[in-house]
Amino acid sequence: MPHVPPTPRIVIIGGGFGGLHAALALAGAPVRVTLLDRHNYHLFQPLLYQVATAALSPADVASPIRWVLRRQRNVEVLLAHALAIDVAARTGALDRNDTMSYDYLILATAARGNPRRRVAARLRERGLPREKVAGFGNDTHRR
Ligand SMILES: Cc1cc2nc3c(=O)[nH]c(=O)nc-3n(C[C@H](O)[C@H](O)[C@H](O)COP(=O)(O)OP(=O)(O)OC[C@H]3O[C@@H](n4cnc5c(N)ncnc54)[C@H](O)[C@@H]3O)c2cc1C
Repeated sequence: MPHVPPTPRIVIIGGGFGGLHAALALAGAPVRVTLLDRHNYHLFQPLLYQVATAALSPADVASPIRWVLRRQRNVEVLLAHALAIDVAARTGALDRNDTMSYDYLILATAARGNPRRRVAARLRERGLPREKVAGFGNDTHRR
């Protein structure tokens, strides 16, 4: 019998813009995709301001991840919080004592930036110490 290689399993952690687009890009590919997120919904963050000002309700900016990917046959969606990854073993620890294994991992749990630090660096480049910029000095940290 001919050897049939097993279908690779791709785990995507995070159902935000990054994770969802990765899953959608894999539509039709000969892979099994598992997308897991600690929430069961995708949050459309750019519209959060409208929720804060009551122009929209929270439900308008959150869509169930399963619904977004409902037409994609090679994807399963799991509600789980990833706690740790063992890159060498290609496994991960999830909440509720669950584990997962993967052939390929896409980590899309959001980048964490520090906009204040970036702006401070730009100010320094222009010879403006941040202490001299209104609203950027140490006094703002104390408030
Ligand atoms: C108020 C606001 C307005 C914005 N406006 C714009 C805009 O106009 N234009 C623009 O381009 N960008 C905008 N952004 C930024 C944009 O929303 C983010 O860059 C984008 O959401 C990042 O996508 P992401 O997939 O990297 O992360 P996210 O969308 O944050 O998704 C990360 C996902 O990972 C999940 N997750 C994290 N850790 C774990 C874990 N350990 N286990 C399981 N799941 C996990 C989270 O639940 C989440 O669903 C805005 C952001 C905010 C807050």
